[in-house]
Amino acid sequence: MKKLNNYIGGDFINPFSDNYIENINPATGEVFSLVADSDENDINLAVEAAKAAFPKWSSADANFRSKWLLKLANYIENNLEKFAQAETKDNGKPISLSRSIDIPRAIQNLSFFATAILHDKEEAFHTSENVLNYTLRQPLGVVGCISPWNLPLYLFTWKIAPALASGNCVIAKPSELTPYTAYLLSEACQAINFPDGVLNIIHGYGHRAGASIVAHPDIKAISFTGGTQTGKTIASVAAPMFKKLSLELGGKNATIIFADSDLEDAVHTAVRAAFTNQGQICLCGSRILIEDSIYEEFKAKFVEKVKTLKLGDPTDKNTDQGATVSKVHQDKVLSYIELAKQEGGQLLTGGQKVDSEKLPERCKNGFFIEPTVIENLPAYCRTNQEEIFGAVTTLIPFENENEAIEFANSTPYGLSASVWTQNLSKAHRVAAKLETGIVWINSWLLRDLRTPFGGTKQSGVGREGGYEALHFFTEEKNVCVKF
Ligand code: NAD
Repeated sequence: MKKLNNYIGGDFINPFSDNYIENINPATGEVFSLVADSDENDINLAVEAAKAAFPKWSSADANFRSKWLLKLANYIENNLEKFAQAETKDNGKPISLSRSIDIPRAIQNLSFFATAILHDKEEAFHTSENVLNYTLRQPLGVVGCISPWNLPLYLFTWKIAPALASGNCVIAKPSELTPYTAYLLSEACQAINFPDGVLNIIHGYGHRAGASIVAHPDIKAISFTGGTQTGKTIASVAAPMFKKLSLELGGKNATIIFADSDLEDAVHTAVRAAFTNQGQICLCGSRILIEDSIYEEFKAKFVEKVKTLKLGDPTDKNTDQGATVSKVHQDKVLSYIELAKQEGGQLLTGGQKVDSEKLPERCKNGFFIEPTVIENLPAYCRTNQEEIFGAVTTLIPFENENEAIEFANSTPYGLSASVWTQNLSKAHRVAAKLETGIVWINSWLLRDLRTPFGGTKQSGVGREGGYEALHFFTEEKNVCVKF
C-alpha cells in the first residue's frame, strides 16, 4: 500500500518511529494509503533542513521566490485532475467541488502571493530635514503551518504561499485525515526541483507531530487553522515562547434573511451556505435567522430545495453531497442531531445516516449523513451555540433588526455572517453591528484574496489574506537615520 512519507530537505524520508496511520476513503470506508506517524525527531530533522536553506532563500530577491512559487502553481494546474481526484478520495467531497474550488484555489493561492511580493513595499518617513525613518520587513526564519481536513490543499497553500513568498522556510503539516494532496505537493516540489529544505512537509497526528512543531524553539511563528480547542492548546504553548501566532478557528455563522430580501436568491444561497462540502466549511451558515413575516414561506422553499440535493458517490460529477470526513466526525454530527431533538428541535428533513440501500455498492460502508434542517429551537440552546461542522442547519425566526443582531452575535464565535435585504441602509447598519470578521451582503463565500480574512472572539486571532498574511510572516524593523 502507498506510504505517504515526510518530505524533508528535498527527499522523501520514513518517519523515525517507522509507524504509519491508516488513511481511509470516507466514501467507502476503505484504507487506501498509509501516512507517516511523525514525532519530534522528524520535526528536528525538518527544522535543520529548513535552517540550512534559509540564508539563500531569504536573501534571494523577490523575483526568484516568485518564479518558484509560480512554477509550483503551474505544476498543479497541469495536473489539476490528479489533484482533484486525490482530494475527493481523501476527504469525501464531491469531485465537482474539488475541480472547481479546492484545487483551482490552491493554484490561485500560490500565484496570488507569488505576484503580491512583486508589488509589496516598505514605508519611509521623512521626519525632519536630516532624519529619515524607514521600515524593513524581514522574514522570520523557520515557520510552522498547520492546517485542517475540510479544505485540505486550499488551506495548506493559503498558509505556505505567503510564508514562502516573504522569504521564510516552512515546516508544514496537513491534517492526518487528508494528507494526500499535501503529499502530491511534495512530489510536485521534487518534480520541478524546488530548492531543497525551503518547504518541508511532515505528516502525522496533531498531538504528536503538530505539537512538536508548536513547541520547537527554532520555529518562530505558527500559522494554524483548525478547531477552537486546538487553538487554545497551541496558544498555551506558543504564547509563553513569544512566537508569532495566527489562529483561524471555528465558526457558528448566521445567515440573516430579512423580509425584504430577494427570496429566490436568498433560498438558493442559504442552501449553498449551509450544505456546501457537507456543511464542513468554517464559513458555513449553520443558523438561518428569518424575519417572522416570511418565516413559513422561506421554510417551505428552503426545505424543498434541500430535498433536491443529490447525495451519493463523491466521484460522480453530478453529486452535490458527498461523505462526511470520518466515522468519528459522522458520529459527532449525528450526536448533535440527537441533542437537537432532546432540546425540542423538530426535524424538517434529514436527521440520520444515509440508508446504505440508497447508496451505490462501493459506498455502502461510507460515512454519509442526510442534509438536515431543524426548527423550533431557541437561539441560546446548545445546538444553536456550539459548532457542529456538518450537514445540519437550524431555522430561527426573529421579530426585528435588533433581535436578528442579538441572535447573530449570541455565540462565542465570530467568523462570518451573510445578510439578506434589499435595503442598502439596513445592510450597512447591520454589517457594522455584527461581531464577525467577515460579512457578506446578499452573497456568501465571494472571496477576494486581497481582503483580510479571519474571525473575532473564539473564531481566532489575526487575519490572513493579502498583505496581512505577507506581513504576518515578517518582522518589522524601524531604521532611523540622521544624516
Ligand atoms: P483540528 O483542530 O482537530 O486539527 C487541525 C490541525 O491541527 C490538524 O492538522 C491536526 O493534526 C492539528 N493538531 C491537532 N492537535 C494539535 C496540537 N495539539 N498541536 C498542534 N497541532 C494539532 O481541526 P479539524 O478537525 O482538522 O478542522 C475542523 C475545524 O477547523 C473546525 O472547527 C473548523 O471551523 C475549523 N476551520 C477554521 C477555518 C478558519 O479559517 N477559521 C477554516 C477551516 C476550518
